Amino acid sequence: MDGTGQRIMEIKASLPEGVTLVAVSKFHPAEAIMEAYATGHRIFGESRANELVSKANELPDDIEWHFIGHLQTNKVRAVMPYVACIHSIDSERLLRLVNTEAARIGRTVNILLQVHVAREETKFGFTPEEFDGLMASGILNELPAVKVRGVMGMASNVDDDDRIAADFRAIKNMYDRLKETITLDDGTVCDTLSMGMSHDFRLAIECGSNMVRIGTTIFGEREY
Ligand SMILES: *Cc1c(COP(=O)(O)O)cnc(C)c1O
Repeated sequence: MDGTGQRIMEIKASLPEGVTLVAVSKFHPAEAIMEAYATGHRIFGESRANELVSKANELPDDIEWHFIGHLQTNKVRAVMPYVACIHSIDSERLLRLVNTEAARIGRTVNILLQVHVAREETKFGFTPEEFDGLMASGILNELPAVKVRGVMGMASNVDDDDRIAADFRAIKNMYDRLKETITLDDGTVCDTLSMGMSHDFRLAIECGSNMVRIGTTIFGEREY
């Protein structure tokens, strides 16, 4: 067993029951994904549309591709045939467009609402106020091709565990409120709280995460 395969198996064995791993393969080649695939893992995360499309065309059909990066509106159509879940819905405009493009090809798509609590200006996502407005608007129940499964968020990129935990609790709070607020007509459950990356996923799980997105710890450093 090579390094990547070994590492992904160790991480999965260490995750509590009910926590799903998204192996973040962005910037890593198809061969690296196949090393993880060979262990039985099927859920991979990508952050660039073109990269996701070319990998999806090249790699086995039973891979479940998650889109985790900022999704430009002009790339929605390209990824739609391939993507199982979009974690990074960060505007109402994008949400509506994803619904339109999914409906256009006759499918439904799982999405997570990306929320923004970290103190970094470069991060995308709904602020708590915008999030409340979105829930109150009723739109989450008006898009038949979109299944709102939960929330994705990132903590501040700092060394202070108290600070990181506070961010994770704020994200969890938004997720809990979403679960109380929406009942989708088709009975779809809101069940996914995506938070935690290589350096903070254990803390994220302690704070209630049930989906972690791990890249570097599995595949090594990315070469940009
Ligand atoms: C790249 C990325 C990750 C993975 O980060 P690592 O530190 O390599 O584990 C997780 N989530 C998002 C949104 C990312 O863009």
